[in-house]
Amino acid sequence: MYSILKPQVTSQKGEVLVMSNGLPLNNVTIIGTGYLGTQIAMLAAYHGYKVKVFDCQEGALWHAYEIIHSDLKNKGIQPVIPWEEWDTCAKSILQMKGMEEAIADAELVLEAVTEDLELKKKIFKEIGEKARPGTILATNSSSIPISRLESSSGHPEYCLNIHFYYPMQGINMVEIMGGTRTLPNVIEKGIVWVRSLNSIPLSVKKESMGFCFNRVWRCVKREVLHLWANDVVDFRDIDRAWMVYTGMKEGPFGIMDKTGLDLIYNIEMTYYGESQDPKDHPPQPLKEKLERGELGVKSGKGFYNYPDPEYLAPDFLDPSR
Ligand code: NAD
Repeated sequence: MYSILKPQVTSQKGEVLVMSNGLPLNNVTIIGTGYLGTQIAMLAAYHGYKVKVFDCQEGALWHAYEIIHSDLKNKGIQPVIPWEEWDTCAKSILQMKGMEEAIADAELVLEAVTEDLELKKKIFKEIGEKARPGTILATNSSSIPISRLESSSGHPEYCLNIHFYYPMQGINMVEIMGGTRTLPNVIEKGIVWVRSLNSIPLSVKKESMGFCFNRVWRCVKREVLHLWANDVVDFRDIDRAWMVYTGMKEGPFGIMDKTGLDLIYNIEMTYYGESQDPKDHPPQPLKEKLERGELGVKSGKGFYNYPDPEYLAPDFLDPSR
């Protein structure tokens, strides 16, 4: 697996930021090993961390592993972890049967459970009670600022958002945002941890709903969902336009399928809850898709059908089709 040897780095106050093994800490715990949690756990294991995970559903890690693996293979994307290392990485991750044993020796706990405020508050309460003093407590939430969770943990000074996008695809960007009382050295350590995963930290200097890039992506999602729901444009044409314009292998609808339409809906509802602006409410046809069980890649159908979505067909961008 990947390893780096560097001189120890200390902060101005003398605190060790990077140890001689090149890492800012050793033990990382991920709570929730769905689509994102599994990728983050794999990435951390690949970069030399001792990783423990806990998910309330047995086998969640291997289930997500299969989905991520076949999604990337289908798209011909070369992931940041070489294919031959995937198995070793996944097998090095310790899957624990309870939360307590998962976080007992953690120096950083990152939760990536389902996007639900009450659930995340419950998780933060539990990790705050069970983690060692001084453990960094982070959420990977796409839409919940840490200020909504920090008091549940009982240790607001150690809480922050560490928000990953697609950890396995190319150089990843990760947003880092503190809460109302996060200590500067906790943010600093979070940034160093992200860098140690060969990812780019995007430091968000004050509380911002949707952090940095997520705000940009969010405007795109809202617009394209309404164009589709109001039957203005075929969603495939929106994806075609996006793919031509950006050179990406998928468009917004393909990306939303991959994210999970249930998660997309919940995120849009969070923004709506914040603004109470009807324009921010996710359109009804999206809710109907969820009711039919069309959740995207994970359920085999979303906007496209999987495992062979139409946008991967060789003629999807063929002008003469
Ligand atoms: P997911 O549905 O794929 O996975 C969630 C996992 O949490 C599941 O495996 C579930 O069993 C587990 N879980 C639920 N309740 C639990 C509990 N009480 N204890 C332990 N495990 C529990 O969701 P996801 O897409 O991986 O999203 C997870 C988080 O990451 C969310 O906060 C989301 O906002 C964020 N996120 C997702 C994406 C994305 O593209 N999917 C991108 C960035 C951030």
